[in-house]
Amino acid sequence: MKQAKPNVYLLEPGKFVNIYAIVRKNGVLLIDTGTPGKADKILRELAGINVKPSDVKAIVITHAHPDHAGSCTALMKKTHAKLYIHKDDLNMLLGKAPPREPRDLLEKIVAFMSKHFFKYPPPEDAVLLNENSSIQGFEDLKVIHTPGHTPGSLSILDVKNTTLFCGDAINNRAGKLIGPHKHFTFNRKQAWRSVAKIGALSFDTLCPGHGPWIEDGAQKKVKKLLVANEHYRNKYKGRKKQ
Ligand SMILES: [Zn+2]
Repeated sequence: MKQAKPNVYLLEPGKFVNIYAIVRKNGVLLIDTGTPGKADKILRELAGINVKPSDVKAIVITHAHPDHAGSCTALMKKTHAKLYIHKDDLNMLLGKAPPREPRDLLEKIVAFMSKHFFKYPPPEDAVLLNENSSIQGFEDLKVIHTPGHTPGSLSILDVKNTTLFCGDAINNRAGKLIGPHKHFTFNRKQAWRSVAKIGALSFDTLCPGHGPWIEDGAQKKVKKLLVANEHYRNKYKGRKKQ
């Protein structure tokens, strides 16, 4: 476990997918749950900072991909926390909608792996979020709809900590911010619009779903990413016309 802010922790640091805990006196909120089978590990790590399962009051899923939602049902059972997800990702969470039709070999391989190795029982209950919905006990946290990677991708803005949790809307790969992933993104245009939406928010620290968090000046880095993408698009457009 690593501490990103006085009351923000990254569980299982260095692993493929990030699970964050916002730890407050009135309870703990988890952001994402990792792949299936992580519930006990997560609770063991939380026990290390004196958090009991019953202290976990809310579990927010940034989007319904199985590497983020895989342990949500098990965690709900062990903690009795409420589960929150954007309404547009509910069907995917329940296994009623496929993540996306695979478009190439890599996506086919990952779809096969997800189907066979990342299976998890669907949760029995979930609170559906919209833009600006509030999370019980954590009403100061802002829910921001940042679709594109999936239709119901969401980000959480923690104003007190000037920290944004953005799921897979933006990733940090080896210290470099990257925009919507070429693979596994439902709608890249929409996903870039969400990056622009994120760039207009006010925060210092960015906690992405993959890769280390970015401290200090993270919002400026998102703006740089947008400018770089704009350059790239213009260059590409120019080439196409020739
Ligand atoms: Zn994802």
